[in-house]
Amino acid sequence: MEDRRVRVRFAPSPTGPLHIGGVRTALYNYLLAKKHGGDFILRIEDTDQTRFVPGAEEYIIEALKWLGITPNEGVGFGDGQYAPYRQSERKPMYRQYVEQLISSGHAYYAFDTAEELESMRERLKASNVDAKYDAITRAAMKNSLTLPEDEVKRRLESGEPYVVRIKLPRKDEVKFHDEIRGWVSFNTSQMDDKVLFKSDGMPTYHLANVVDDYLMQISHVIRGEEWLPSAPLHVLLYRYLGWEEVMPKFAHLPLLLKPEGNGKLSKRDGDRLGFPVFPLEWKDPASGEISSGYRETGYLPDAVVNLLAFLGWNPGTQQEMFSMAELIAAFGLDRVSKSGAKFDLNKAKWFNQQYIRKTDEVLLASALNKTLQKKAIDAGNEYVLAVCRLVKEKITFISELWTYSQYFFIEPDSYDEVVVAKRWNEKSAPVTQQLMDAFAGLPAFDAASIEAAYNDALAKNEVANKDFLQLFRVMLSGVGSGPPVFEMAALFGRENTTKRLQNALAKLAS
Ligand code: GLU
Repeated sequence: MEDRRVRVRFAPSPTGPLHIGGVRTALYNYLLAKKHGGDFILRIEDTDQTRFVPGAEEYIIEALKWLGITPNEGVGFGDGQYAPYRQSERKPMYRQYVEQLISSGHAYYAFDTAEELESMRERLKASNVDAKYDAITRAAMKNSLTLPEDEVKRRLESGEPYVVRIKLPRKDEVKFHDEIRGWVSFNTSQMDDKVLFKSDGMPTYHLANVVDDYLMQISHVIRGEEWLPSAPLHVLLYRYLGWEEVMPKFAHLPLLLKPEGNGKLSKRDGDRLGFPVFPLEWKDPASGEISSGYRETGYLPDAVVNLLAFLGWNPGTQQEMFSMAELIAAFGLDRVSKSGAKFDLNKAKWFNQQYIRKTDEVLLASALNKTLQKKAIDAGNEYVLAVCRLVKEKITFISELWTYSQYFFIEPDSYDEVVVAKRWNEKSAPVTQQLMDAFAGLPAFDAASIEAAYNDALAKNEVANKDFLQLFRVMLSGVGSGPPVFEMAALFGRENTTKRLQNALAKLAS
């Protein structure tokens, strides 16, 4: 068992956009598979057709592709030998296992109508008992354990709707080992006889999930903590189906918590606190409501992978920046924490900033070029690349490229008023004039020569650098902060720098 091939799966239900908690689950599965040279599978769990949302499956596939969390088998990624990977297409495979459970006495037919179930619940609630369909209550319900055999037969033959329920023992401890939590134990007295199968031939999540993990030879089930209460049921299904020997290892990941640290991170928290909880933008097909995505907000995929990896895992060292290859090398379930991971927006931004600084200008330039095209600005590729090289230190999101660089393409027609009010004085105009004269005579218009000419002009006029530098920047760009000012002027070029200073002078000196 120990040297079993690592085969893991990400098994979302296509009920809406993928939450970043789901993306983290996919990532941890992927990392474990790659670390051990194993397989990572995408299985779509769509047995509950009533919850199906159009576009959700495509969204999941696109999000995984964008982030480079690429399955090597599964829906949208090419079929392996275990196809199909969409549960609705596997429908005929499940019935035989339900029949096996019924004939071994571990499951039974139930014919209760919705009203009968409701009145059972009402009755129990009134007497303050947990409303469960279980070893005690099933004795008073309409099922193959209480009805005479020939009546069960008649009902089935006449096509009466039914469900198949698991038959849980009244009081039994179910213990299993979780790779993150250690030994976990549940008592069947707290569980109910969950529905496994319906008369339309469709299995429920629990049965389909276990059968598919078995058939697809899954070695580890890595999923969110919300599935922990289902795990004992799954363990019993493995036992009852005779598959205990090949039962996967379980690892239930900690919850993603709100930035304040209490409660699960929800879609509304993102809207409220101004950060996306979805990898890509999502438009709800029913309401038309749009939820923001990391991609559209201007995050880089490598930054999102890095920040998600750290929400629940740590490498045990000081290193924070990890490429996917480094994550694969460092990852292990032994360093996944049990307690919830708090989402930290500032940390998320920090990661993105770091990645933008590391990003090739070519990528940033192609993003900026799209905006320039829309605005019909033709600046030349070399110039755009140089602008990106200068401003990339200043931005947090790709989407800020234009905001921070627009004055490289459009000459300013207004000047930061606070800076002007504070710094403009009777010496400002003569110094500026002298600068323009000096610039005209420079053999080369590079940052070092500009700086030397600038220092010279200030010295001659007995003006301190601190009293003029920001004003100089504002005259060139209109705004009070930006990349190194002499490099900026060098990039504008002699002619454009001079023109900008002239314009500023005309406006400010009047
Ligand atoms: N379909 C379940 C979900 O939507 C999968 C849970 C599991 O991984 O077993 O999360």
